[in-house]
Amino acid sequence: ENLVSAYVSDAERDAEVSVRPKRLEEFIAQHRVRDQLDLLLKGAMRRGSPPDHILLSGPPGLGKTTLANIVAAELGSGIRVTSGPAIERSGDLAAILTSLAEGDVLFIDEIHRIARPAEELLYSAMEDFRVDVVVGKGPGATAIPLDVEPFTLVGATTRSGLLTGPMRDRFGFVAHLDFYTPAELEALLRRSARILGVPITDEGAAEIAGRSRGTPRIANRLLRRVRDFAEVRADGVVTLETARSALTVYDVDALGLDRLDRAVLTALVDSFRGGPVGLSTLAVAVGEQPDTVEEVCEPFLVRAGLLARTPRGGWPPRPPGTTWGVRRRMVHLA
Ligand code: ATP
Repeated sequence: ENLVSAYVSDAERDAEVSVRPKRLEEFIAQHRVRDQLDLLLKGAMRRGSPPDHILLSGPPGLGKTTLANIVAAELGSGIRVTSGPAIERSGDLAAILTSLAEGDVLFIDEIHRIARPAEELLYSAMEDFRVDVVVGKGPGATAIPLDVEPFTLVGATTRSGLLTGPMRDRFGFVAHLDFYTPAELEALLRRSARILGVPITDEGAAEIAGRSRGTPRIANRLLRRVRDFAEVRADGVVTLETARSALTVYDVDALGLDRLDRAVLTALVDSFRGGPVGLSTLAVAVGEQPDTVEEVCEPFLVRAGLLARTPRGGWPPRPPGTTWGVRRRMVHLA
């Protein structure tokens, strides 16, 4: 089990529900996004019309799904949840859109992975609240226009750069979620501990926060594991000592680096003499998909100051891309 992965299993989603904030005021940190959303939602409610469509971008586990649910709760609306990969045919999407009630929130996770025909259907739904459903094939095919109730789309993406221009333009509100600071994660952990009924000291919360890769999902997960340790091997209180001992047992290092982070850094230092090296070469070296390295490893390692991303230069001109190098600090660490 990889304790510091930002990805989530279905079983863990269930475990997450109990500590998930339900209202905007319970949502920890991300003050700017919170403030802007507050205005957007209150403004819309005053006018009695659904707010603009909302795009949430950022690495996994930072609270996009949580915010989508909060938007619906604040509006007092229903929410329908789907994801880009789940919408295979445009008919699937048409069925969802035409079944929405007025003011509903439609949450589409991983919206950058939606198939192109469905994406085009979504454009007209977002803009004019109508869709053209094509019936039949070939010369006999006809487009039947169908009305869609006014709704708010909340799209989430880990890769906003992969969204098409027309898609991005149709969101009236775009928010980028960034990694949480250790102090913010501490506050989040104290809140979760309170809800779970786990006694925790400030030092205990700080220790877990520091190893959570700036990610609420990981912080909550580590808290559950440390609680086990505290209950089984100590007196049930999460202190600095129990947190440290537990996280040693679970092989979570002081920076919260996981196996893939360490593999990337080791490859850069040992095989590529500190880099720079291209993404795909690096991905092959660590036996991972370039996407995973780019979406999960890179943002955190860059943020932690362990990795630098440099635009690729040189002559003759090469296709645009990136080369990565390890910062000197890591060369010493490794
Ligand atoms: P993914 O895209 O991988 O689903 P996500 O960004 O949608 O990730 P969430 O599922 O919303 O992430 O959040 C992960 C966990 O972290 C949830 O248990 C949620 O309750 C908690 N969480 C996230 N952000 C906050 C926050 N600001 N305050 C309190 N808890 C949070």
